[in-house]
Amino acid sequence: MQFASRLDNVETSAIRELFKLLGKPGIISFAGGFPDSAMFDVEGLREASRRALDEEPGGALQYGATEGYEPLRAQLSSFMKNKGVDVAPDGLIVTTGSQQALDLLGKTLISPGDKVIVEGPTFLATIQCFRLYGAQLISAPVDANGVDADKLEALIAEHKPKFVYLIPTFGNPSGGTLSLERRKKVLQAAVKHGTVIVEDDPYGDLYFGEAPPPSLMALTAQVPGSRELLVHCGSLSKVLSPGLRIGWMIAPAELLAKATMCKQFSDAHTSTFAQATAAQYLKSGRMPATLAHVREVYGQRAAAMGAALKREMGDAVSFTQPGGGLFFWARLTGAGGKLADANQLAKRAIEKGVAFVPGAPFFAQDPDVATFRLSFATANAEKIEEGIGRLGQALKG
Ligand code: PMP
Repeated sequence: MQFASRLDNVETSAIRELFKLLGKPGIISFAGGFPDSAMFDVEGLREASRRALDEEPGGALQYGATEGYEPLRAQLSSFMKNKGVDVAPDGLIVTTGSQQALDLLGKTLISPGDKVIVEGPTFLATIQCFRLYGAQLISAPVDANGVDADKLEALIAEHKPKFVYLIPTFGNPSGGTLSLERRKKVLQAAVKHGTVIVEDDPYGDLYFGEAPPPSLMALTAQVPGSRELLVHCGSLSKVLSPGLRIGWMIAPAELLAKATMCKQFSDAHTSTFAQATAAQYLKSGRMPATLAHVREVYGQRAAAMGAALKREMGDAVSFTQPGGGLFFWARLTGAGGKLADANQLAKRAIEKGVAFVPGAPFFAQDPDVATFRLSFATANAEKIEEGIGRLGQALKG
């Protein structure tokens, strides 16, 4: 079959190939990006969906507005206000997961050949989605404190990108969080160069101890001229349920209008039943307890994984303990003549009964083959101990 030329730029990911091996019995997987199904507030969602059908069957089951179901937009507006973002209900649109917001940004902003700056490493689906629209991706370096703001500004000045895409809080895969100082620098650089910044924030609520710095969107209030350049993508996937497919996008009115037009041709609107359920859930007041629960459980798992990694891998691996999110981002140091290629380690690890994702595909440029990502979301502390033990065995060969 003759496919559209835009597909020439995109390959099916190497990670998918690895996932094929995960069916092996007894394997402990740190490979996925899923939250733990056992964490879903089934009771709260059952009640919310029942209310949606009882109280507003017309709204929940009928076609709806492309911008989103009004009661949900109102709830999301309050949800964001609690996080320091002043946004009216019509200042955001509901999207089918934040993944759709990324796709709409690709559709509305990227012409073939346009430059877009992303973090190195960044979310794999973003790399592929933006490439599908013909973007030329440029990688800005990150460390445990997020993207290097000075280097980012130099890249903006050099490449004059269409926009910059960042996951400032508990990045996927980096686990890193942009410091407050760097956040302000990024906003100042955006204003200085007139550059649009996309803040993808599905993990910001998932912190284990201290809350992360305010989102870039919240900080726009302190940097004059930055609000008109900021796009913020939010999601209920990681804290409530990814199957609901509820995300949202806050952006300048002009961009929201174009994105809404594109969404109309894409899925007309996000499932009204899912939106009405999410609206009822947020209205029910259960969210704070749900957040407290997921923070506690994932926090314990992150602590267990950090301790096990130190014990089993020693100086053969370097990593920063994440303060939130779902991932450890680690690097093989090659110390003591041990492996320094995460692809090789991944193959050996599968044989030992543990899976993770090598880091190279997460880089739009200059892949670092020593890096890899471990998710601590779906295994309990016991499985984490066992799995990291197997990883230690795999490293020994
Ligand atoms: N952005 C990032 C950084 C993610 O990690 C994910 C989920 N893995 C998404 C967006 C998409 O999430 P959803 O569409 O479920 O909101």
